Amino acid sequence: MNTFPSSLSRLVGNLNVERWALSVECSRYSHRLFAAQPRGRLVHNFNVRRSAFSVRRSHDPLVHSRSADGGSARCVRGQAQRPAPTVNRLLLTVYCLLLSACRPFNAEPLRIQWLTMGTFAAVQCVDRAAAPKARDIAQATFDELDADLSVWNPGTPLSAVNRAAGSPEAIPISAPFATVLRAALDTASASGGAFNPLIGPVMRAWGFNGADSRPAPPEPAELTAALALADWHAVVPVSTPTGTTVRLPAAGMRLDLGAAAKGYAVDLAWQRLAAAGHTNLLVDLGGNLRALGEAAPGRGGWRTGVRNPFTSGILATFVLRSGEAVATSGNYERFVEINGVRYAHIMDGRTGVPVTGMAGVTVTAPDALTADILSTTLFILGPQKGAALLRSRPGCEALWIPDTSSKPTLLATPGLAARLTPAGNAPYTLTILRP
Ligand code: ADP
Ligand code: MG
Repeated sequence: MNTFPSSLSRLVGNLNVERWALSVECSRYSHRLFAAQPRGRLVHNFNVRRSAFSVRRSHDPLVHSRSADGGSARCVRGQAQRPAPTVNRLLLTVYCLLLSACRPFNAEPLRIQWLTMGTFAAVQCVDRAAAPKARDIAQATFDELDADLSVWNPGTPLSAVNRAAGSPEAIPISAPFATVLRAALDTASASGGAFNPLIGPVMRAWGFNGADSRPAPPEPAELTAALALADWHAVVPVSTPTGTTVRLPAAGMRLDLGAAAKGYAVDLAWQRLAAAGHTNLLVDLGGNLRALGEAAPGRGGWRTGVRNPFTSGILATFVLRSGEAVATSGNYERFVEINGVRYAHIMDGRTGVPVTGMAGVTVTAPDALTADILSTTLFILGPQKGAALLRSRPGCEALWIPDTSSKPTLLATPGLAARLTPAGNAPYTLTILRP
């Protein structure tokens, strides 16, 4: 781990707050999240393996500064973490109770939130005593999937597949890896390549996934070369008597399952939690949620918010039914800045160019893997083509929020539109997408 840059220490030290999460994006310190205390004392740092910007989901960026070494730092208000003397306690702080008017305080579901895989994870349990155990099951599952599918960790099987690109060697992959890859390739086919799990070289061409930051957007020739390597047709997982193998036929090809792995991790955690006897809970990994049971008798599920992508507020809520999953993709989550222009982390797999014009997409689905993959896909396709794709996905609904400077507009499929409750006084305009 690099030492904490002194310019950033000063930045933190100037802030008169109890605790801050500081996300740093620059060539030398990219993708690292620092939890820091006043006066710049660094209490913990760790490689978040994805952009730390993802942790801004419910934060307001308050300070943005360029450091002397050409990088940039952004301080964000820490979540409502209780002060804790140790790092472990910081990470495992239990701090949020769901509010409900009709039940006594101590009967509310207990929410435990922690940092993992460069984002926030949470479990919310009606059986409050069972919450720590539920967190342990969820975290063990997330760790397992991260150790298998992370593109950031050179020790993962996914990295091994990428390293072997161009060699004749087919690499054995785990059952979860094969499930996620097959689902991603199916959606690549269904979306005409808009969604593309081979998007790795394109991500790097724009300065994502650990590539050096760029002085200018990639030239057309560079993009063409990156897109040629993103040939998802050329990757076919092979079932063998002992499992599944996969081979990337050309050197430079790179799998990136960042749009699907968290969803599958949530599904696996959800299954294990149900198998362990948990009955009424909500599991969340970086905005990929899946519900089990209900938050209170008669509620029919768990009330969930649709985030306003232009502020950190909530635009609307709806009840996520037992078994159902929801995922959100946004242009505010992660981005690079090139020549003062922000480019979001979702690429159109057909052109190799970051998607513009869309601020956020939320998808409900029968499972979290589907919701995760579809939220990215529908972000790329937009409402018209996206709604058409949904016709072949039973049980899936979606809403789109275009990137406008005026009052937010929601374009929603009828099933989801009917479930929305505005969070305030007409905070958005709703258009229902007729089938
Ligand atoms: P998040 O990971 O922040 O929740 P998403 O689920 O929308 O957001 O996934 C975005 C990630 O998906 C990117 O960071 C990248 O790893 C990957 N990605 C980007 N563009 C594509 C694409 N066209 N097809 C498949 N995956 C993509
Ligand atoms: Mg996704």
